[in-house]
Order: sequence, then C-alpha cells, then structure tokens
Amino acid sequence: MSLRLSVSPRGISFREETEEGPTGGRGSPGPAGGAARHTLVCVLVLHDAPLAPLTTFRLGGPADRLITATTDAEVVAAVREADASGTPLLLIGGGSNLVIGDKGFAGTALRIATTGFALDGTTLELAAGEVWTDAVERTVAAGLAGIECLAGIPGSAGATPIQNVGAYGQEVSQTITEVVAYDRKTDETVTIPNAECAFSYRHSRFKADPDRFVVLRVRFALEDADGMSAPIRYAETARALGVEAGERVPAAAARETVLKLRAGKGMVLDAEDHDSWSAGSFFTNPILTEEEFAAFHARVADRLGPDTAPPAFPTGDGHVKTSAAWLIDKAGFPKGYGQGPARISTKHTLALTNRGGATTEDLLTLAREVVAGVRDAFGITLVNEPVTVGVSL
Ligand SMILES: Cc1cc2nc3c(=O)[nH]c(=O)nc-3n(C[C@H](O)[C@H](O)[C@H](O)COP(=O)(O)OP(=O)(O)OC[C@H]3O[C@@H](n4cnc5c(N)ncnc54)[C@H](O)[C@@H]3O)c2cc1C
Repeated sequence: MSLRLSVSPRGISFREETEEGPTGGRGSPGPAGGAARHTLVCVLVLHDAPLAPLTTFRLGGPADRLITATTDAEVVAAVREADASGTPLLLIGGGSNLVIGDKGFAGTALRIATTGFALDGTTLELAAGEVWTDAVERTVAAGLAGIECLAGIPGSAGATPIQNVGAYGQEVSQTITEVVAYDRKTDETVTIPNAECAFSYRHSRFKADPDRFVVLRVRFALEDADGMSAPIRYAETARALGVEAGERVPAAAARETVLKLRAGKGMVLDAEDHDSWSAGSFFTNPILTEEEFAAFHARVADRLGPDTAPPAFPTGDGHVKTSAAWLIDKAGFPKGYGQGPARISTKHTLALTNRGGATTEDLLTLAREVVAGVRDAFGITLVNEPVTVGVSL
C-alpha cells in the first residue's frame, strides 16, 4: 500500500495506492514471478514546484509535479507511475549538473533522496541519494583509498556514474564495481558490472541513454593501503603535496589538499560565493584526432605566434585532449568575463556562474557567445558538460 501526500494550491490531500511486488533493495528483481508484497510508502508530491532552489545554478522554472523519494521503493514506484501514464520524467540528485530552462519542466521531477552508506572491509555501497562529498570524507576517515581526490564534488552518489565524475587524477570508473539500477525498459532492477557501464571521459552508457536507467545504488572497491592514498596522479596535486607524481601520501592529506585547491577555484559549494553558483566545468575538454590537433596547432600559431603551443594530453588511442579553459581564455574570455548577471567565474575560466538574479536564458546567451568565440578563434566547437533540460546551447 502506498500513501500519497499531495500538496497543491488547492490544498493537501492523501491518496492510498496498492502496489505489487518489491520495488527496491539490493538488486531485487521486481514483481515478476513472486507473490505480491506490500510496502508502505509515503511520498510528498508538490505541484507547480520551483526547481531553481534544487540546482546549484539556482536557475530554472517550475515542474508540474515534484516528488521526493527517500527509499528505493518510492523511487521505483514514482518512475513506474510516470512511465505508465506517459508523463515526462526528470531525475534530480543534487542538481549540480543541471541547466533547467526558464519555462521549467512539463512533467514529473523526481528528487532522489535515498540514504545508505555501507562499508564492509574495502567494499562500499552507497544509496543513490547519499551526498557524495560526505561519503568521500567517511571513506577517508576509515583509512581507505580510491576516491579521496574526488572530495568536494557536489551532488549525489547516484549521479557519479552518469558522467563518470572525475577530478585531480581520479574517476569513479576506477573504483566502481557495479551499479544497481531500475531498468525502465524491462521494468526490473538490474546489477550492471563496471565493464558494461561504457565509462569514458565524462560519459557512460547512462548518459548516452538517459531515459533508461535510474541508478539506485553504486558499489565501489576501495583500497586499504594503511591509511595512505592511491598514487597521486595529478601534477598540480603532487606539487601542492610536495611529492612526485605516483607517490602515495596519507589519504586525509590528499583529500584536504584537493579541497583547498578546489576552493581556490570556486569549485566547492559555498552559498556566499557566487563563483560556486555553477555546474562546475561548463564545457568538456575537447578530444581531437591527431590530424584535427595538427590543424588546431597551426591556427594557434597563426593567431598567437609560432612559439605558442596549445595544451596537449595524448589519450593513448591516437587522440589528443586539449584544455577548454585555455581555449576560452585565449579566445578572449578571461576570468570574470561578462556584463550581466551570468558571467565567467572570477576564479576559473571554465565555470559559468549566476551572480544572482540571472535567468537560464542569460546563462545560455553567455555560453553561446563563448562557444561562437572559441569556434571563430580556433575552429573547435565546445560541448557543454551539464545536462540541459528543455533548452539547448
Ligand atoms: C562547484 C561544482 C564543482 C563541480 N566539480 C566537478 C568535478 O570536479 N568533476 C565532475 O565530474 N563534476 C563536477 N561537477 C558536476 C557535478 O557535481 C557532478 O556531475 C555530479 O555528479 C552531479 O550530481 P548531482 O546529484 O548533482 O546530479 P544532478 O545535477 O541532479 O543530475 C545530473 C544528471 O544525472 C541524472 N541523475 C541524477 N541522479 C540520477 C540517478 N540516481 N539515476 C539516473 N540518473 C540520475 C539527472 O537526471 C541529470 O541528467 C561540479 C559541479 C559544481 C556545481
């Protein structure tokens, strides 16, 4: 039985619903083949609900309905209901990678607020709604290595596999063993091993096929290295820690150093700091073929002089990654660029920010100006990293 509490301008109402089958838990397979089980679910449903406060940009219009789910069963029930009625569905975790249009969302927004932190030896299982940066802190406090350099990334654990979050030399694809998800196509809960997640740079099968999987739980294999971190891979972190790349340091020191570096770039959430009213990096770093990179290099030489070499990070498969922040800066968009309420962060060229009072349209106007400027200067079209809802660049 499910008890549905509905809040609208017309008042508050309750509705009882009967559901069949288990709708969550560790890899439970859904209703097929088993006797009906009854779960008592009480979910809060808001109508014409503002979404801006649920995003780190603080932008976007209202959703027709907003449901907050605190258990896997509630998540699955809400998704099933939306799918059965053909209602568009928007999943929201921490809202730190979302650009929602000013008109809002004509459908059901489902905020995933489930909790669950289970550490067994070096095996970690997180419910999708767990706050990611808190989970990192707890694993470091337990003396474990593997995600310490991902400290300070806002949002929920369940969203980390979506774009394979990464920073300072670590990506979740290095430690995730499996993702437990509700498959909207087959109406069952599935366990997807790492090898089937199609992880790549800021991408995964979940991002490629956004209407199929709802992440319920994420499992990780961490490392017990006697309180030491994983080998430090990122040059900037190694420099700040005073070690060579490849060395280990106490995991707590790695986490604290990363947090300090991030704060200096406005990359840690701080309600007082408009530089963090963002989605972090707004653009992904372009990955070019060797021929494309050669053409780009020639353009850089033409524009900035023969001695200027663009940043180049070979990916090992015949491609070269370059820096979106460098491109933006060299195309004439320095830190703090912009006149209106949406501007480039004063601390990081790659973050577009809401200085207060911006609309999504203001943000997109700035983003389009940057994309066009970089394309004109260097022939490269930047791609946005955050997910857009009801709008596009
Ligand atoms: C200041 C700042 C710094 C940042 N730094 C980094 C960084 O260093 N590295 C990095 O990779 N990212 C970074 N980000 C981006 C963002 O924090 C991450 O992408 C994060 O994982 C998003 O989590 P979220 O819960 O906020 O997702 P949301 O913004 O709520 O959602 C993002 C996408 O995931 C989907 N989604 C959310 N939850 C689920 C679920 N349970 N199942 C299926 N789909 C789901 C949503 O529908 C949406 O498409 C930063 C953002 C900010 C604001």
